Amino acid sequence: MDLDTKTMIIENNKCAWGKCIFCSFSKKQNVQILSEDKLKQLIENELDGITTLKQLKFFNSGSFLDENQIPIPVQDFLLEKCKQLKTEELIFECHPMFITDKNISRIRKKLNDINYSPKINVAIGLESADNTILKKIKKGITRETYTKAVELLKKYNFYARTYLMANLPYKKDYSKSLNDSVDFALPMSDTICIINAYPYGYAELFDIWLSRKWHPLNKNEFEKITKKYKNNKKIEIFFDDFISYPKFSLPKQKKVDLYGANKFNLTHPYYEVWQEYLADFYIPPKVKEHVLILPCSYRKPYSMSKTHKAIITRLKGAYSYGKIHQIMVSNPGLIPREFESKYPFAKYDWPEAQETPNIKKLYTVVTQARIENYLKNHKDYYSYNSKKPVFCYLKYEAESYIALKNACKNLDISLINLVDKDTYDLFKKQGMKDILINEMLLDKMFLGLAKRKL
Ligand code: SF4
Repeated sequence: MDLDTKTMIIENNKCAWGKCIFCSFSKKQNVQILSEDKLKQLIENELDGITTLKQLKFFNSGSFLDENQIPIPVQDFLLEKCKQLKTEELIFECHPMFITDKNISRIRKKLNDINYSPKINVAIGLESADNTILKKIKKGITRETYTKAVELLKKYNFYARTYLMANLPYKKDYSKSLNDSVDFALPMSDTICIINAYPYGYAELFDIWLSRKWHPLNKNEFEKITKKYKNNKKIEIFFDDFISYPKFSLPKQKKVDLYGANKFNLTHPYYEVWQEYLADFYIPPKVKEHVLILPCSYRKPYSMSKTHKAIITRLKGAYSYGKIHQIMVSNPGLIPREFESKYPFAKYDWPEAQETPNIKKLYTVVTQARIENYLKNHKDYYSYNSKKPVFCYLKYEAESYIALKNACKNLDISLINLVDKDTYDLFKKQGMKDILINEMLLDKMFLGLAKRKL
């Protein structure tokens, strides 16, 4: 197989610097330390079946030139593999503390020894060209040490690929800050990569996100400050590369008791961060075409509850079951089925008996805003509109239903509640409990979907 480009991520041992506030990996406990043979094997496995490879991006969450992360025999092994594959460009990452004359001249010598002269591009996370910011984000470098590292690379005929973050905290004017950094780094760099800072649980920046004083940029915000670089051939722009759902590191986070029908348990930062991720970054599974909003349940994860077991069993009979995206609505906000076991969605409770008129009102307002954000940002994905509906299976008097109804109305999306209203009203009048899992209502939910060929 001939490949143009490949990204290889092989993590081994901790980054020797390990202090950048946006970095989670370097703060993890019990990071694996692999033998040289194991590392070589992993590289072999990654390159298996490839005959030629034009460009290889090798990332190891730290520094390629740090022998404790990538031992010299493994560095050499990778260079030899690249030679075999006729690789024209090798990109690897390195903190400037390892960009030393000794390390760079050694790589150059190795390349000369094997008679191989690819383009070597060293990825340096400069992040910002402002020394005050660099100190605050604990990057361990300054403009001056970066410049020195790049000059050394040039001396040995290597190149610099500089990473900048578009949205570091501590600066109000992101746009100006980014422009200043690009102006500084561009003349010295082969390429510049602009990325959206997005932290995970062990990173200090994740705590800052939870404090609600900072957040990763959404698509519009990011595009606004990066659009002037869109057509610059030396600049690559990454809005959501390698972004995943919010990963909480519980040993570090203060565990909180997310219990009670109160404001704390409605607008907790853990929920807000999740809802921000779901609205701004989350891409629903490709196969899902229809949205079905479902209620929450006391038992978690929801699918283990009596209510959800009954609903899922009946839904499975639907022709388009696999295309239906089940999303629960509750005090944490919207929870797509695939995240129901993630923290804190499986560890909270909202006792209805504690609800007051005021908290119900607040619940409706907060939930409506969350639903609106989610539906608005995923409108193109699910392609719902005034004709293609959003479905739900919710009690008519529930605040969640009222919030959903208002949100759909504001967005001009049609909404179909698959709970048959007449039957529901009759059962309610009779004082029936667990109405939503009544066989007759579940049958009608199924028929409601079948009627629409779902
Ligand atoms: S240099 Fe890279 S790996 Fe090390 S702490 Fe900073 S971001 Fe993390």
